[in-house]
Amino acid sequence: MSTPRYDVVVVGGGIVGLATARELRRRGLTVAVLEAQPTVAAAQSGHNSGVIHSGLYYQPGSAKARLAVAGRDETVAFCRAHDLPHRIGGKLVVATELAELPRLAELARRGLANGVECHELGPAQVRRREPAVRALAALHVPGAGVCDFRLVAEKLAELFVAEGGQLLLNRPVLRLTRRRADVVAHTERGDLLGGCAVACAGLRSDELALRSGLRPGVRIVPFRGEYARLREAVAEQVRELVYPVPDPALPFLGVHATRGVDGQVHVGPNAVFALAREGYRWSTVRVRELATTLAFPGLYRLALRYWRHAVAEVRGSLSREVMAARVRRMLPDVRAADLVPAGAGVRAQAVRFDGGLVDDFLFITDGFATDGGPGDAAVLHVLNAPSPAATAALPIGREIAARLIGEHHVPVAR
Ligand SMILES: Cc1cc2nc3c(=O)[nH]c(=O)nc-3n(C[C@H](O)[C@H](O)[C@H](O)COP(=O)(O)OP(=O)(O)OC[C@H]3O[C@@H](n4cnc5c(N)ncnc54)[C@H](O)[C@@H]3O)c2cc1C
Repeated sequence: MSTPRYDVVVVGGGIVGLATARELRRRGLTVAVLEAQPTVAAAQSGHNSGVIHSGLYYQPGSAKARLAVAGRDETVAFCRAHDLPHRIGGKLVVATELAELPRLAELARRGLANGVECHELGPAQVRRREPAVRALAALHVPGAGVCDFRLVAEKLAELFVAEGGQLLLNRPVLRLTRRRADVVAHTERGDLLGGCAVACAGLRSDELALRSGLRPGVRIVPFRGEYARLREAVAEQVRELVYPVPDPALPFLGVHATRGVDGQVHVGPNAVFALAREGYRWSTVRVRELATTLAFPGLYRLALRYWRHAVAEVRGSLSREVMAARVRRMLPDVRAADLVPAGAGVRAQAVRFDGGLVDDFLFITDGFATDGGPGDAAVLHVLNAPSPAATAALPIGREIAARLIGEHHVPVAR
């Protein structure tokens, strides 16, 4: 039996892999998606806050800023077109201490630089929008909202298959081998060939890159984000989305309160080091995987830099009272007993060897399919696609497709 061959093999059936695969298929290429798990959106894409970000936070000129702004509009349009639950009710970023006011003003400047509509509010205006919130000032971002990214990913998969794409579940890719005219995707159930490949392996993206012979210069450090649901009796304290002013030293947005598309209000996520890549709880420990992460020098440098934050996050994870105290800074009437544990997600955050957190999205292409030399077929590795990559997935897919077709002249299978 001959080895199946496609124009492009995409590794990973998360929202980024699926958006990329669908975009390539719509451009007339033959595409296969190989997903390790029995369902799509099994990792980050199915375990997140469900917030359609507006593009407020990100460094002007960055890929995150550009793609989040485009992604917001496209996600809303996609949800509308396919009748998926979503709501654009706006968000408040609230300052609760004087020291946060300059940071809030800086955020407003960033938002304007990124073309995001936002308005500064005083305490009375905040109370009119969110009566239970205590704040000295806030930024109102009317374009932010919520959806269910798992449903978005499932719809992308459904459309991709209906349009002739091949989706292979339960197919972990062991490694990708670049050859002169194609890339071999090795799996335990046989090989597949691609004119080129895209690796969107999230929490395992560095592992796959290393096994495929690329030295990516970063490692993925898994950060679990735990959620609690607000009991029904107090859930009415949150109408839409309430966020703290983020600490500029950290890549995460801080524990926020979100009313999801199902009407439930969640608070979270915190950010604790996970003891396994898919470590959704403290009890999930994978010793060999943990040993590899602990052997990474960047982790120690990161820990030295952020140890105070790390200790505070672990305390918040282990004590509902500590978590409630954090929430009370914005919502003073929430008690520990109002918080019901409600699952977690694990972020795939790329960290450099010097301990620096990679801030922007990171795509590295291994090889060029242009001059026909040995080992020339390209593999594009997505090595950092944390939040807001769910919001930005549709334009990310388009950008990756354009790079492959434009720069690397994907060799077509027919
Ligand atoms: C707690 C949390 C909250 C978040 N909140 C938001 C939010 O509100 N808004 C927002 O826009 N973003 C949010 N994000 C970020 C968003 O979820 C991610 O950026 C996005 O889902 C990344 O998608 P992905 O496809 O790159 O990765 P993933 O969804 O992780 O998909 C990677 C896939 O690759 C598969 N895979 C891995 N290795 C292999 C292999 N060797 N072979 C085959 N398959 C493999 C995995 O099984 C997985 O399905 C949040 C993330 C977390 C964790």
